[in-house]
Amino acid sequence: MIQFKLTFSPEVFAGPDSFERLGEVAKKLGGNCAFVVIDRFLSEKTDLKEKTIKLLEDQGIRSIIYDRITSEPTTDTGNECVCIARENRCDITIGIGGGSALDTAKAVAGLIKNPGLIEDYQGIDKLKFPSVPKIMIPTTAGTGSEVTFTAVFVREKEKKKGGINSKYLYPEAAILDPLLTLSLPPHITASTGMDAFCHAIESYLSRKANFFTMPISMEAMRLIWKNLPVVFKDGSNIEAREKMLYASFLAGIGLANAGVTAVHSLSYPLGGLFGIPHGTANAVLLPYVLESGLPHTGHLLEEIAWNITGKGVTAKSFIEMLKEFEEFHGIPQTLTHLKIPQNSIEQLVEGAMQVKVPLENNPVELSRQDIIKIYQAAF
Ligand code: NAD
Repeated sequence: MIQFKLTFSPEVFAGPDSFERLGEVAKKLGGNCAFVVIDRFLSEKTDLKEKTIKLLEDQGIRSIIYDRITSEPTTDTGNECVCIARENRCDITIGIGGGSALDTAKAVAGLIKNPGLIEDYQGIDKLKFPSVPKIMIPTTAGTGSEVTFTAVFVREKEKKKGGINSKYLYPEAAILDPLLTLSLPPHITASTGMDAFCHAIESYLSRKANFFTMPISMEAMRLIWKNLPVVFKDGSNIEAREKMLYASFLAGIGLANAGVTAVHSLSYPLGGLFGIPHGTANAVLLPYVLESGLPHTGHLLEEIAWNITGKGVTAKSFIEMLKEFEEFHGIPQTLTHLKIPQNSIEQLVEGAMQVKVPLENNPVELSRQDIIKIYQAAF
């Protein structure tokens, strides 16, 4: 029997200059005072902050700006934002940046209406009351956070990453403006692009994949395979940047509806313990996790290879092609390259085994020993 529920919530405004619609969209959602989380780079190095304030002001909306967000945000940062937003009685939140800014804006929207701290809600379905409306404007083509129900934070004391997962975190609106991604340097373009690729391939292979999500995940992979090399070499190519944003959005729909798999379980501790950026951690582990699924998932990998590369190759060859694809984009090939100490395997395995849902979605069941082997292979 197949059982699934489709969720696709945001109203989408896409294309060059779609950012200009921000004020109007916020007004339509009933905002009077917006809590805006904007990426630090974009705030300091571009005029996006000033533009945001003006677009909102033109619609009579006050803005409270937070631009000190760090990559892989911590619960402390999230809680600081929640305090400011509550104090100012914000009634809408806006995230402008990569997944770090977007997740923070989503969580703040949830906690304006739910008492307590971010930590209280990490887990599944813990938010009791609907959030205030939220508008997400991704400036990396990676996480798909603009279409998912998750907001991820590191609990610094425990060095663990955990998501708030709630139906109340689905954004009400998403603005996909490729012009905002033109300033991404090649290495962030690559690691975030590979994050989106991981969402797409993992959701395609997930036990929860279905006839709705599979074509969406496949299209995301196809777009990334074609356009990531283009934007990596020429970041100013607006058309290819636009395709990458769509791909990341589609991969986010795959993630939200079919889930991700063991790559994410194994990558979380790399972020929590060693601060490895999410996209890089996923990308490094991907080929090793795929190898662990053979021969069970071989036919699916061959299907993917055919659809995205146009080549009829074996699953093993496809994994090799994927390694070359990552190498081309400057993605480290091993955990050794990331300077992870080999004696941390025990800690990594402990961490990975606690990220249960992606492990449950994995197409093959992984024992503790299997996870040790994957990490060992990745060194
Ligand atoms: P990020 O938001 O941490 O940003 C990475 C870097 O890119 C930062 O230095 C930032 O300043 C810079 N940057 C962002 N946009 C830029 C631009 N246009 N030009 C130049 N520099 C720019 O990275 P990310 O990979 O987008 O997000 C990672 C976070 O998202 C992690 O915390 C991860 O756990 C989370 N995540 C969430 C979901 C979800 O569904 N909510 C999914 C995957 C990952």
